[in-house]
Amino acid sequence: MLNRVHPVKGFVYEKQEIVEDPTRPTGCRIDVWLRARSNRQGICSCCGRRGPTYDRLDQRRFDFVPLWGIAVVLVYAMRRIECVGCGVKVERVPWCLPGGKSPTTLAMQVFLSRWAQRLSWQQVADIFWVSWPTVFRAVQAVVAYGLAHRDLSGIEAIGVDEVAYRKGHRYLTLVYQIDEGRRRLLHVAEGRTVKSLLRFFKMLGEERCGSIRFVCSDMWRAYLKVIAKKLPGAVHILDRYHIVANLHKALDRVRASEARRLKAGGYEPHLHRTRWCFLKRKENLTDKQRLRLRDVLRYDLTTVRAYLKVQALHLLWEYQSPAWAGKFLDAWCRDVMLSRIEPLKQVARSLREHRPLILNWFVAKGQYSAGIVEGLNAKAKLRFRKAYGFRTFEAAEVALYHQLGALPQPEIAHRFC
Ligand SMILES: [Zn+2]
Repeated sequence: MLNRVHPVKGFVYEKQEIVEDPTRPTGCRIDVWLRARSNRQGICSCCGRRGPTYDRLDQRRFDFVPLWGIAVVLVYAMRRIECVGCGVKVERVPWCLPGGKSPTTLAMQVFLSRWAQRLSWQQVADIFWVSWPTVFRAVQAVVAYGLAHRDLSGIEAIGVDEVAYRKGHRYLTLVYQIDEGRRRLLHVAEGRTVKSLLRFFKMLGEERCGSIRFVCSDMWRAYLKVIAKKLPGAVHILDRYHIVANLHKALDRVRASEARRLKAGGYEPHLHRTRWCFLKRKENLTDKQRLRLRDVLRYDLTTVRAYLKVQALHLLWEYQSPAWAGKFLDAWCRDVMLSRIEPLKQVARSLREHRPLILNWFVAKGQYSAGIVEGLNAKAKLRFRKAYGFRTFEAAEVALYHQLGALPQPEIAHRFC
């Protein structure tokens, strides 16, 4: 069976045995001994050249994919190779990723990482009786392979976004490719500073930056600065998604403070439990929320006025021409500046400040028919909710690449899952 699902070139499966092992939940494990073919020299782990055997080390165990719930372990005594270039070095074995000193076989690492795309890491660890760090290191190894082997050529559109990855305002800067038909996470960096984003451009290299024609981002100053400097020729678009998100934050502040005011003044609690009525898209409201919204819109409340203004701005993205969209945007900002609703006025001020970048959305629409004008949307964000809650940056980084990076996987002869 092993020769069929996991053939190892230059090596022979010699014998196998069921061994009693009280540390395993089934009370036993299957040991499989490997032997190098006598006519094949080993490969130097440093340079990849073959060389004569110098000596043999003690037997090592490598965890393999379990069979019928029973742990399978490959047992092999590693050779040391007398390499002409590097001196005496341990050999490289084909059942492990090169460079790794992992006690887990590549097949098992790919097996665990494929399950870790569908389940949480802890669930994978529990199901296959391995530790959480084993799952983490397996995913880490597969991700490292993917990052080293991915193709980064021909990227035309990127989106820059930030997410909080744990409580206490710890941020990650994420860069996506958002070309139509090719959406994937390209880069994760800690923080949301100038440096965080510069790291992406350093990774990509100047030449590959040359193919980028569109950039979507929010109004975060550090990002605007880096993008202007690094991609002077690209069309920089302030994303609809981010603008609407800012407006919704402002609207929520208006609602919360008015609700407090009403309560303190002893008025009827019109705004009680209305948060999502105002923030959700109309078509996503439940029947109950729709009725609640219709009810509350009858009152002369600041929140209602703010809500109607926010709704009105959605018309902006119906325009075809940048010129008319610009006129509409100016009129909207003028109207809001007269409204005396301070949180909305703040947003209007920043929209005025970034007017050209907002109107670039319409320029891109004319030039580029693909999904790039959608930019980053809430759906893409939802997909990595599952990856949240990691205590360290390292774990969050690995999980994000694993889930969203669309990375190539190491090739193995058989798909175990
Ligand atoms: Zn060598």
